[in-house]
Amino acid sequence: MSASVAAGGAARDGVDFHLHSTCSDGVLPPAGVVALAANCGVRLCSLTDHDTVVPGVELSARWQGRTVHVVGLGVDPAAPALATAIGARGEARRVRAERIRDRLDRAGAPGTAAYARVAVHPLPTRTHFARALVELGAAADPGQAFERWLGRGKPAQVPSEWPELDEAIGAIAASGGVAVLAHPLRYVLSNGQRRELARQFRATGGHALEVVTGGQSSQQRELATGLALRAGLEGSVGSDCHDPALPWHRPGRLAKLPEAVIPVWHRWQVSGAAAAAVPPDDLA
Ligand code: AMP
Ligand code: MN
Ligand code: MN
Ligand code: MN
Repeated sequence: MSASVAAGGAARDGVDFHLHSTCSDGVLPPAGVVALAANCGVRLCSLTDHDTVVPGVELSARWQGRTVHVVGLGVDPAAPALATAIGARGEARRVRAERIRDRLDRAGAPGTAAYARVAVHPLPTRTHFARALVELGAAADPGQAFERWLGRGKPAQVPSEWPELDEAIGAIAASGGVAVLAHPLRYVLSNGQRRELARQFRATGGHALEVVTGGQSSQQRELATGLALRAGLEGSVGSDCHDPALPWHRPGRLAKLPEAVIPVWHRWQVSGAAAAAVPPDDLA
């Protein structure tokens, strides 16, 4: 991967630590995501597929009864603790997919037909259901499928039985990785609850907070910066790219990490040669 200049001319870190491939709910295979990231000027990246490993990870977890996401960077894909954590989530996802199917059917949506498409995936997510519903003509786009059925408070929403936050952080630590609280402003929490989440994340062994995320306003970035600094967390940057067709989530199209925040990547030194440590062939 070459150290090309970031598209658009704006100052960028050339880092993207939150990307999805077909190993979870992204549309490109891992090598395709890495190639796209390289084309977009990214020099250091991590594939962070939901509840799987290639070679970063995004683990779903529960905190005070809500779902939060924890990105694990630098994990050893062969670590038993990670395999255990992923196994628990795979089982929870398969059980949940059946319940989503039933609720969709009851709500008058083609749940059984969508499930037939979704169940071929070892880690079925709501994103897979959303795409299946679009393919079946039941929604114009995935966003509409969430709005009508899959989103919070909608008929096919099924509470997720994820393991607790401390289990996710512990599994990432036991696998040699660094835990990052993903997209901290996406959770429906009061400011006080969000600060408490960041504080507990740090106290439980978490390292960093995703300060710069895809599609974020500068005001949101300032809020996330304050959260990280207050909790003593380092900062990560990640687009959460799932699909290159969504331009606001393209790999590396991200603001620079504010100077006040310690970059989580100080342990993986970004240099012109850094990305060569993760050649695309190894990810295919
Ligand atoms: P799950 O982990 O199965 O609950 O699925 C969560 C995933 O669904 C997230 O990681 C997003 O990629 C996607 N998602 C959540 N809400 C929306 C939405 N409103 N529109 C499109 N995708 C969404
Ligand atoms: Mn996702
Ligand atoms: Mn997430
Ligand atoms: Mn994600």
